[in-house]
Amino acid sequence: MASYLDRWEPVIGLEVHAQLMTKSKMFCSCPNHYGSGPNTNICEVCTGQPGSLPVINQKAIELGIRAALAVNGAISEDSVFARKNYFYPDLPKGYQISQFESPYCVGGSVLIQLENEVARRIPLTRIHFEEDAGKLIHQGDKTLVDLNRAGVPLIEIVSEPEIRSPLEAGEYLRKLHAVLRYANICDGNMEQGSFRCDANVSVRPRGEKKLGTRTELKNINSFRFVEKAIQFEIERQIDLLEAGEKVVQETRLWDSDRNVSEPMRGKEDAHDYRYFPEPDLPILVISEKWIQEVREAMPELPDQQRERFVQEYELSEYDAGFLTGSRELASYFESVAKLSQDAKLSANWIMNELMGRLNATGRDILHTPVKSESLAKLLSFLVSDQINGKIAKTVFDEMFEKGTDPGKIIEARGLVQISDPSALEPVVQKVIEAHPDQVASFREGNTKLLGFFVGQVMKETKGQGNPKTVNQLVKQLLQP
Ligand code: ADP
Ligand code: MG
Ligand code: ZN
Repeated sequence: MASYLDRWEPVIGLEVHAQLMTKSKMFCSCPNHYGSGPNTNICEVCTGQPGSLPVINQKAIELGIRAALAVNGAISEDSVFARKNYFYPDLPKGYQISQFESPYCVGGSVLIQLENEVARRIPLTRIHFEEDAGKLIHQGDKTLVDLNRAGVPLIEIVSEPEIRSPLEAGEYLRKLHAVLRYANICDGNMEQGSFRCDANVSVRPRGEKKLGTRTELKNINSFRFVEKAIQFEIERQIDLLEAGEKVVQETRLWDSDRNVSEPMRGKEDAHDYRYFPEPDLPILVISEKWIQEVREAMPELPDQQRERFVQEYELSEYDAGFLTGSRELASYFESVAKLSQDAKLSANWIMNELMGRLNATGRDILHTPVKSESLAKLLSFLVSDQINGKIAKTVFDEMFEKGTDPGKIIEARGLVQISDPSALEPVVQKVIEAHPDQVASFREGNTKLLGFFVGQVMKETKGQGNPKTVNQLVKQLLQP
């Protein structure tokens, strides 16, 4: 694969559908609520009854403006809703209201930062409003229709084909996800489909300007699957082209159980949808005054917070980016850093020890068994030299497993670091007496043996000796 990548350049563009956190739907007053009984949140508008009329949900537009501001897009004063015509059983109207030629937002970008790489801005093409379709539920040989989702407000965020690897695609999505959640635009629940992604993938010979034929991977519902699906697709296309065959423009479906994608249907072109301006809705007008009001109410966003973490806590750009992956993680970090008074140590412990254990057990920061106060307390014991790093990790294991307070664990298991020289001296004495050969060798100039003696003393104290004090005592008592 690596050598193929010398010849072929992957080109990826992502389309993200994000449901907006409104109380009601895009064009009617039905509840925008996931998980209600089938077909209970519906009315004549969202089921497309003849003669019913849509009304634009102002809150949805406000959230859309917020999204546009968050990615620095240009908001159009006038934009137009359009009918996108197609037949599908989950779409009783026979068309979806979307925006086509005049979206409400163009341009903007998303900043991504991969580990050990320079941060990169992925440019956006556009953001537009649309309504969601209903849902089909397949049960044996029957298919049922649930229209609760029909008319749920969405924004679609379309990137330029400027993403160059599966990892960049994953990072772009994580970042966009964080931005939308920070600004309370979308709840980001990928399992429930509030945040979904279509990935467009092509490859071209390196140096070539023209884009290759793309395929589109539909509705992938996890960051990891997106990365895997794109990787698979890049390899599949390179194999085809290397064999002198052609890539067919089509929509493919990712099968996450088998780790393969399969053709679903030929890809439609825009003209297949017979887009035309929605005659039942006015032009959408977004005034400068409105934009200003939304701007003033905007909370701190991941990029701003990341910069603040670099300034205020002297973290690296990468660490600050990692910790601002979600608002929950960021506020956990800030709480530990403030309580423990050591930001760098807090960042390290959260990123390595805590996240490592959470990932291994398939949990996220919301479900951490170790509260920020407890971790801060543990780190305070560490900073004040009451325990050493090795003991701290043992204590943390138990905190993570049982949620116990670190002070209690240290006390119950007698783990407090022994720093008192008068308590350590007899142990050092004992170790020296037990190893006369090594003592002789050390005194003849083999100073490397210092580590051996320190190690023996640490072993005798079950790791509780203060390494600094032990070191000093060993040196002192080994003097001839
Ligand atoms: P649609 O998929 O609805 O037809 P577009 O044609 O505008 O819409 O393309 C949507 C996405 O596909 C965009 O994110 C764009 O960057 C990406 N894209 C377009 N052409 C290519 C290509 N040749 N290779 C990879 N991505 C592409
Ligand atoms: Mg598409
Ligand atoms: Zn309705």
